Amino acid sequence: MRLRRAACCILHRGDVMAPRVRFAPSPSGYLHIGSARTVLFNYLFARSTGGALVLRIEDTDPSRSKEELAYQMADTLLWLGIDYDEGPRKGGPYGPYFQSQRTERHRAAAERLLAEGKAYRCYCTPEELAERREAAVLAGRAPRYDGRCRTLTAEEARALEAAGRRPAVRLRVPEEGVTVVHDAIYGDVEFDNAALDDFIILRSDGMATYNFASVVDDIDMRITHVIRAEEHLSNTPKQIHVYRALGVDPPVFAHVPMVLAPDRSKLSKRHGAVAVEEFREKGYLPEAIVNYVALLGWSPGDDREIFTMDELIREFSLERVSRTAAVYDVQKMEWINAQHLRRLPPAEVARRALPWLRKAGLAAEGAQVDQRLTAAVALVLERVRTLAEIPAAIEFFFRAPETYDEAGVRKHFAAEGAAERLAACRRIAEEVPSWTAEAIEAAYRAEAERLGVRPAELIHPTRLAVTGRTVGPSLFHLLELVPRDEAVRRLERAEAFVRAHAARA
Ligand code: GLU
Repeated sequence: MRLRRAACCILHRGDVMAPRVRFAPSPSGYLHIGSARTVLFNYLFARSTGGALVLRIEDTDPSRSKEELAYQMADTLLWLGIDYDEGPRKGGPYGPYFQSQRTERHRAAAERLLAEGKAYRCYCTPEELAERREAAVLAGRAPRYDGRCRTLTAEEARALEAAGRRPAVRLRVPEEGVTVVHDAIYGDVEFDNAALDDFIILRSDGMATYNFASVVDDIDMRITHVIRAEEHLSNTPKQIHVYRALGVDPPVFAHVPMVLAPDRSKLSKRHGAVAVEEFREKGYLPEAIVNYVALLGWSPGDDREIFTMDELIREFSLERVSRTAAVYDVQKMEWINAQHLRRLPPAEVARRALPWLRKAGLAAEGAQVDQRLTAAVALVLERVRTLAEIPAAIEFFFRAPETYDEAGVRKHFAAEGAAERLAACRRIAEEVPSWTAEAIEAAYRAEAERLGVRPAELIHPTRLAVTGRTVGPSLFHLLELVPRDEAVRRLERAEAFVRAHAARA
């Protein structure tokens, strides 16, 4: 493959038809981050050009085809806000959208090519092919199909069939010349035809191969732009030969660069979570996943990093997709998630956090978001990065601490006079005229002055007594959310703990 010139404006075809793009996954049951990026770019392109996105499930591999997995994937797309136009769960005029239900179309197309002499039947067995490939390699030749069945006579073919051989169908590919892929991202990329062999389009079991089925379906579904992972660039010359044989202009191709792991290897399971579903379970927001994934290979041309889907649709263009591989960075994703969390209304964050609150035993089945829960969430919103972190961050709101942070105990509970100060705090809790952040704060400051200590010397022990921790959101706002009598009880317990400790020491 050779790069001939830089990508240029070959994004739109001359015809007036609105663009039609497709995402064509094999149904694995989860959406890899790299695939999420591919489908997102298709969606953004479709929405920004007034086009349509088709979801086609390439489920012809019988060992893996599972309809349920395909629906799971479709649901993940919808959860992300990638509201495709046609496909499973949606229907549409060019269905069926499961490739396995389109085999008759593939066979008919192959028959046509056979009738036109653009394809031929090949009777070679896998063993024969392997043997000849090996011999070619030993002789220093390329291990490509040697064209043995290209010129079989009808009689020879009949004899082979009579011997029980079932043919595959191969496409006749020119032996000379070059095939140029005009790629919207990589520019013109040349492939020598001599390096392509007469590849199989229909296997002997009558099933089409990927390079054939995909093109037949893309033609049937009126696809105008094929936007997909770079790893398919090398399949593209073959697919162009299929288009030519079928007498159809190829679509615009746009190959998007790989998403690599931080060590620049292929991103896989061993790099931790790589599926959208895993991030969903870890409490990531669909808005944030979309935002992060958009930045894998695309940039707005300035340093903005936070985008909503609508903003992405307004800003997106294939021209701004980079040719270099994107490197996946989970910390950045976490940061982007935190940014989106803070932009949501706290009541909405609370609503989305309910499943995690339930899991942590902090919300009952069927519990609704109320004002107090919303206030608690609002208080910690600046401190959490995912929905999954919310239960721990607002635990104080639901129950008394079971233990106290050890370093905190040494620092704030073991100090001289700690028990007396906790007693003073408890009295404030009992006596402050109103249980509001302002009133509590005023009382704490007045008490600190009266005792001749810094306010921090009352604030830190109180936080430890009420939450068990040394850090957290504004203490006075936090106290306001704990019922007054509960705050009194927690301060009493801490005072008793400190006295017991002092007695033992
Ligand atoms: N089923 C192929 C894949 O998942 C589709 C490639 C394409 O978009 O043509 O990689």
